[in-house]
Amino acid sequence: MGKTLLQKVWDLHTVRQLPTGQTQLFVGLHLVHEVTTPQAFDALRQRGWTVAHPDRTFATIDHIVPTLERRRPFLDVMAEDMIAALERNCRDFGIRLAGIEDDRQGIVHVIGPELGLTQPGMTIACGDSHTSTHGAFGAVAFGIGTSQVRDVLASQCLALEPLKVRRIRVTGTLPKGVYAKDVILEIIQRLGVRGGTGFAYEYAGDTIQRMTMDERMTICNMSIEGGARVGYVNPDDVTFEYLKGRPFVPQGEAFERAKQWWRSIASDADATYDDEVVIRAGELAPVVTWGVNPGQSISINERVPSPTDAGEEPQAITDALDYMGLHAGDRIAGMKVDVAFIGSCTNARLSDLREAARVVKGRHVAPHVKALVVPGSAAVGKAAEREGLDDVFRAAGFEWRAAGCSMCLGMNPDKLQGHQVCAASSNRNFKGRQGSPTGRTLLMSPAMVAAAAIAGEVTDVRDLRIDEFTD
Ligand code: SF4
Repeated sequence: MGKTLLQKVWDLHTVRQLPTGQTQLFVGLHLVHEVTTPQAFDALRQRGWTVAHPDRTFATIDHIVPTLERRRPFLDVMAEDMIAALERNCRDFGIRLAGIEDDRQGIVHVIGPELGLTQPGMTIACGDSHTSTHGAFGAVAFGIGTSQVRDVLASQCLALEPLKVRRIRVTGTLPKGVYAKDVILEIIQRLGVRGGTGFAYEYAGDTIQRMTMDERMTICNMSIEGGARVGYVNPDDVTFEYLKGRPFVPQGEAFERAKQWWRSIASDADATYDDEVVIRAGELAPVVTWGVNPGQSISINERVPSPTDAGEEPQAITDALDYMGLHAGDRIAGMKVDVAFIGSCTNARLSDLREAARVVKGRHVAPHVKALVVPGSAAVGKAAEREGLDDVFRAAGFEWRAAGCSMCLGMNPDKLQGHQVCAASSNRNFKGRQGSPTGRTLLMSPAMVAAAAIAGEVTDVRDLRIDEFTD
């Protein structure tokens, strides 16, 4: 009987079965950043241990790095301490670091693929929930906590529960103005934020197959928001084309051999799945979250739900409506926004910035809106500048920043103030996520964020009559 990619990669990386029922898995690549590692490195020092595989470990600085003023020492003492600790730890333990001055610096889930560190068939771990991003390449990639970071540093292994596999087939053509972000928000809305518990999500179908790697990364990135432990796409020619020539990818003859192996780890045609879901792309419209988790979303033309609607817990809906300042039956279109944020590991790649730039070109941000673009990596920023996208955004009234996690979370100077409402291309709309305990986040595609910035309120990007939507 055929196997899924998950089963193949899992079997190939199994060290042994543990008495707990877990599997001890070897980790091919450990990505490290400044926030979830200081205690893990301290634990190693206390025990006199070394890092088992510094050659399989790569560090960058992203979560707390300022995106405006980057002179050292940082004004934020905690940020300075964390970065200094990561620099010291990388030096002491022999780990490569894409530091603050490095051209390779950026959000960990943007630079891994960009550098070709992320490859098909790998097991990957990182102390950040959105490590599932790397599954876009046919890797099995786990977000882990600080104690597991310590375990991986010390042993290059993880103890993991077995997973079931749900295949999510997306079929048909996405309407213009509807993006990968809308697809994944729709999936999370339909299956629920806990619907993926105990599952790996395999994204398949002709819509996924036609997607670029950037789009596949957007989809896999938010698997965790649907409760799935990992999400992946089977590697194919699109994957190989993206990887070819990247710094850490085998070159020449070795690349051809790698390609053969990468192809072999894709799910077999006769693989069986624990569950299957079909999403019809042609029926989708731009999606916006109205509540306080990524599953609380509606299409741009719909009205926010009422606690009496079937589906979610009535109390959860009441609570979310109160927090967001909405009433049952309100339209999401027309909700005033104070801030527009284009950034994060979900949607701050070059193609995202290009699409948002198409929307804002020749227009201007509404006077009451603070709008910023934060490239996912220094390389994305440079590439965008070469194309003149920074000028397009600046001319429209956006701030153009240096790479980092920025306003995706409130751990750096980019924060919401008070009750501000933010149209965001990021991945979490939890209460207080963007740095203000009462700040409100509306998740949507980068093009929709751009449209909201221009209109000063949530608006359907398709109404702006953009002639040049990417096909
Ligand atoms: S952009 Fe947001 S989700 Fe992504 S790594 Fe940074 S903090 Fe985590």
